Amino acid sequence: MERIGIFDSGVETPEEIIMAAGFTPYRLFGDPSIQPEKANEHIPPTHCVWTRNLLERALTGDYGDLKGIIATHGCDRTNREFDIWVECLNLKFMFFLNSPRKRGEKPLEFFITDMKELILQLEETFGVQVSTEKLKDAINTMNEIRGLLKFLSELRKENKIKGSELHGMVKAAQMNDKEETLAYLRNQLEEIKTRNPFEDGKLKKVLLTGSDIDDTEFIKFLEDLGFHIVIDDLCVGTKYYWNTVDESKDPLHALAEYHLSKPIYSTKYPSYERFKILKEYAEKYEVQGVINIAQKFCEPILYEHPYMMKKFKELEIPYLFVEMTYNKESYKQLSTRFSAFAEII
Ligand code: SF4
Repeated sequence: MERIGIFDSGVETPEEIIMAAGFTPYRLFGDPSIQPEKANEHIPPTHCVWTRNLLERALTGDYGDLKGIIATHGCDRTNREFDIWVECLNLKFMFFLNSPRKRGEKPLEFFITDMKELILQLEETFGVQVSTEKLKDAINTMNEIRGLLKFLSELRKENKIKGSELHGMVKAAQMNDKEETLAYLRNQLEEIKTRNPFEDGKLKKVLLTGSDIDDTEFIKFLEDLGFHIVIDDLCVGTKYYWNTVDESKDPLHALAEYHLSKPIYSTKYPSYERFKILKEYAEKYEVQGVINIAQKFCEPILYEHPYMMKKFKELEIPYLFVEMTYNKESYKQLSTRFSAFAEII
């Protein structure tokens, strides 16, 4: 099936619309083994390293087989960079979806209106029809995927699955055909259920939060340093599957409600509510510490850090903040900080 790319900092793109239009939604990820040389010709190197990496991939032809790209309102980087993407890429379909910053009745109506515009433009560009029935089928499929991922996610606390393994599965679900994803996740679940729990010995149970962290190797790197990521608050993680869409309602209304009521991302208002979610996770999963990772120049996470640090101090939960460069080599340079944190918690 042909693919439409998603350029999205907060997983707020209603993938069901893309599926109902007959395409596979394909979330764009970076490649930490490349340098954003061409992207730096368009964007100052003091801007989010992750989105510059994605632009680099686009400029060097990595996304050439996509039929289009939908950029969904997230942080200032994804919003403003989309203008550059439109100038630099020659794709049949480019759409900016205005997912609201705020929550409530008015933003809900606003989001539904913009989703209708997305549907109209998909229909006109590709000569397809996004019917209510197709939307309902897509919601049903996505809900099943979310349910399976959440079930697998909870097996982290039973030591049956590691955070890196789950991260790989969520990433696969965001890139691959959804029916294939369903079959893949069902098989994975059957196999994982038969496993004996792994020994956690000296592993430190942590909550991982922060920017868009899409490199599974980085999660493995943390595990090798002695952490067990028993819960997370990531877009390649719980934000993608924690809730489900209400299948009894009008599909567009239900999709808008779903995206505006799921655990809030730091790019949305009021972002300080994110702390409530983190507190709830930290207490429920009895973590020994919280790791907050900012991709270099990720403003939303950088702004939030002082508040998070203060609040976790009040809770007496150890908290580590690290700003990192999106580059495999940089991981090694951080190992001392992570190892020291593992020792003190
Ligand atoms: S890493 Fe931060 S600045 Fe970059 S796209 Fe994500 S939220 Fe925006």
